[in-house]
Amino acid sequence: MSEALPRQIATIGSYHAHIYYDPVATRDIAERLRSRVAERFEVQLGRWHDQLVGPHTRSMFQIAFRKAEFETLVPWLMLNRDGLAILIHPNTENPRRDHLVHALWLGEILEIHGDRLPEQVNDPDPDRVVANTRPTLGP
Ligand code: ZN
Repeated sequence: MSEALPRQIATIGSYHAHIYYDPVATRDIAERLRSRVAERFEVQLGRWHDQLVGPHTRSMFQIAFRKAEFETLVPWLMLNRDGLAILIHPNTENPRRDHLVHALWLGEILEIHGDRLPEQVNDPDPDRVVANTRPTLGP
């Protein structure tokens, strides 16, 4: 944390939204939200993780999106998350900080296992957002 402030937004390569759900109680809500996102946004929808993965403490799927999508996708999720908790974080060279310090939450704030995330990566956008949706509706 010795790095000088202010940080430049150019250090952000892309964003993730993690959509959390309960495999029994709210997976249907997550499925409906996922379909609605796919119909409206050019994003990369990740796999379903009913089993806990990485730093996450609830089942989830990930939406990877480019910086240009932020101004429409994030407010759309604010209005349409339907009770689900959502973590939105930038992807910089420090994944631990991205999740623990620079994230924003919609709804419930969940625990994140920061010790499972690296403090330094060479590429802030390792996945390169490859959209796998074909939106036909506006946001
Ligand atoms: Zn993420």
